[in-house]
Amino acid sequence: MNKNKSKNSILLIEDEENICSFISTTLKNQNYKITSAATGSDGLHLTASLCPDLILLDLGLPDMDGMDVIEKLRTWTAVPIIVISARSNEHEKARALDCGADDYITKPFGTVELLARIRTSLRHSRQMQDMSSIYQRPYHYKNLSINYENHVVTLEGNIIHLTQIEYKLLTLLAKNSGKVLTYTYLMEKIWGPYIDGNNQILRVNMANIRRKIEQNPAAPEYVFTEIGIGYRMAESD
Ligand code: CA
Repeated sequence: MNKNKSKNSILLIEDEENICSFISTTLKNQNYKITSAATGSDGLHLTASLCPDLILLDLGLPDMDGMDVIEKLRTWTAVPIIVISARSNEHEKARALDCGADDYITKPFGTVELLARIRTSLRHSRQMQDMSSIYQRPYHYKNLSINYENHVVTLEGNIIHLTQIEYKLLTLLAKNSGKVLTYTYLMEKIWGPYIDGNNQILRVNMANIRRKIEQNPAAPEYVFTEIGIGYRMAESD
């Protein structure tokens, strides 16, 4: 495992001691600087005093709902938030993302998954801060490439013809690759805030995209379904 050169600081807001110590040990081994809080209000105070690079947030806290913690944080900070959820409730994960969380991880999770989620969120947050990144690096993973400058999508070097909506949808996912985007977010970004809540139009477009870019649309390599939540595109190289 390669170590991070600059120490990123992570605030862990979690009341379960064994999860807390598992995460702390894992992250310390990866050279992250970690602070933990066992309540929502401690978490909010520590965020203000420490300005962490990332927050891992348990939704089930003793003093307040994790969802309220996200809403309070989002009134003043864009710090990436990864929700730790014990609940298999997809609706709630989607709600956390729509409230402003960047990603989620479901208990029980392994070290590899935890570290991958953290790396992705930190990378996205750095890109957001980097004002010089007006030029968007092309997406590339396996045989799929997307050049945003000239609007060209290729698979094994062959140009893929997409409708305007399909292109918008695919590039939105690609520019956020590695990150789950909720149905609500995608619907609003592509069709605007006045579209009704029915996801049918989104699913139809996604099926068409998959037919064009996936060898086997039933076992996708590029765009994954997070059932009941949204879609996540494989992270760009
Ligand atoms: Ca808890």
